[in-house]
Amino acid sequence: MSERVGHVVVLGGGSAGWLTAALIAADHRTGEPGGLQVTLIESPGTPPIGVGEGTWPTMRDTLRRIGVGETGLVRECDASFKQGSRFDGWVDGSARDRYHHPFVLPQGYGEVDLVTAWLRAHPEVPFADLVSFQPHLCVQGRAPKQPGTPEFAAVANYAYHFDAGKFGLFLREHAVRRLGVRHVTDDVVAVQSHDSGDIAALQTREHGLLAGDLFVDCSGLPSLLLGQHYGVALRSQRPFLFNDTALAVQVPHPDDAAPIASQTIATAHSCGWTWDIGLPTRRGVGIVYSSAHTSHDEAERVLRAHIDHSGGPAELSPPRRLSFTPGYRERFWNRNCVAIGLSSGFIEPLEASALAMVELSAAMLSDELPATRGAMDIVARRFNDSFGYRWSRVIDFLKLHYVLSQRDDSDYWRDHRSVESVPERLRELLVLWRHRAPYRHDLFRVEEVFPSASYQYVLYGMGFRPDAAGTTRRSDASGAADGYFREAATMTRRMLAALPSNRELITHIRQHGLQRI
Ligand SMILES: Cc1cc2nc3c(=O)[nH]c(=O)nc-3n(C[C@H](O)[C@H](O)[C@H](O)COP(=O)(O)OP(=O)(O)OC[C@H]3O[C@@H](n4cnc5c(N)ncnc54)[C@H](O)[C@@H]3O)c2cc1C
Repeated sequence: MSERVGHVVVLGGGSAGWLTAALIAADHRTGEPGGLQVTLIESPGTPPIGVGEGTWPTMRDTLRRIGVGETGLVRECDASFKQGSRFDGWVDGSARDRYHHPFVLPQGYGEVDLVTAWLRAHPEVPFADLVSFQPHLCVQGRAPKQPGTPEFAAVANYAYHFDAGKFGLFLREHAVRRLGVRHVTDDVVAVQSHDSGDIAALQTREHGLLAGDLFVDCSGLPSLLLGQHYGVALRSQRPFLFNDTALAVQVPHPDDAAPIASQTIATAHSCGWTWDIGLPTRRGVGIVYSSAHTSHDEAERVLRAHIDHSGGPAELSPPRRLSFTPGYRERFWNRNCVAIGLSSGFIEPLEASALAMVELSAAMLSDELPATRGAMDIVARRFNDSFGYRWSRVIDFLKLHYVLSQRDDSDYWRDHRSVESVPERLRELLVLWRHRAPYRHDLFRVEEVFPSASYQYVLYGMGFRPDAAGTTRRSDASGAADGYFREAATMTRRMLAALPSNRELITHIRQHGLQRI
């Protein structure tokens, strides 16, 4: 049980596989004498899923840690800047129904009770528009930084939209050429085990046996090692979140100068919701829905109507259909095998939590990489505890977008409000939030997937209001909240005057690059 962990084998060359392999290799001196060996194997005939274009700001730290440049990302992955999400039609479906979930924290967050001051003095202004400058940047299509801002540095907190296929190739090039990851293109056809039950090697079609000490299952939805080999079951979340199908399509811009939205636009429809992601050369658009509530034909009709309504061309290629069971595995690390990415679970694309979970998983694996087999089970227990907790928080946060909706145009929305479809912890939080705003004690672990500020943006964007008789945590006798509201307004004016459009910044980076730190 004390054998040294010297060789990590990653199965799968999608975004999860390459992010994980690159992060481990960058952290552990792979390619140097005495360094850890990392091998990634991917099937020549099974391409990565090819969706997953929206990210969280954590991606900037992940890419910096791996050692890639932001200029290269923008040029090679068709990347644009994302400053959050806009939700259209989620509250009641009316023409005026729209709110923002920006990445920047409210001005004065955690200092004073912004919510009470908002409701007392400015109840007619949407919460996010009052406490943050970022929704105003998004409305104007502004970039989150200037051409002179160095790589990965922000004027306004940001993440990326990118072409998922190009992103995988970009990471592969860096991981293989710069970080010393060995790349094997082959099919895994069987698993060979030690007597203990640990995986000893993967049997490939062309390259024989690939032995290793730790195996990372990034094989996508089939979950070849954790799910199929070890039989670790998927815990279905369908009772809470019903979506199980998506249709995805690429929509060309009308011309090369078309504005690029600097947020993901999520629009609710009677049968589900559409995502709309602006890249420099095209938009990525799709619909997510529940096959138990809607036929595929009806979902496609809604998707096409949405594209037509948003100025897309009349002729489009047929959309790709992707099916999944919303859920996550009962555990993620079993013996000497850990699953990261779709093989560990997937709920739905709302709020782009999947790649953020990949980043968190890869970072914890790399940070706590057990030096020996003897230490592995301890790390595995901690990993399973962390990610069991994180997946539950993803469920709560996604459900928040549905449970508060007043839409009454289909069983899909009515079913989402039924009491039994709301996880117990979220039910309890909604009772507490009648009397006070979400804050850090509601989400107390380090590196929560969604911070309490995100809950505030969605809660109040969805029209939730605390009871007037509720007690507030902190009074604001000094009027400090008003000062923060004025600060947000001043920053809005300054930034609108100083920041280029998303399109202008991306064109600049493609031509001249950004300054490296
Ligand atoms: C409709 C939809 C929209 C999404 N949108 C977002 C989003 O906006 N933001 C976000 O964060 N996430 C999103 N996701 C999730 C995101 O796409 C994934 O988390 C991400 O792409 C990682 O996928 P993966 O690498 O785990 O799996 P995959 O991309 O499926 O890769 C699997 C890999 O395993 C390899 N493989 C499989 N079998 C074998 C074998 N036998 N031998 C060798 N290799 C094998 C394949 O060759 C492939 O390389 C979305 C998902 C869906 C379905």
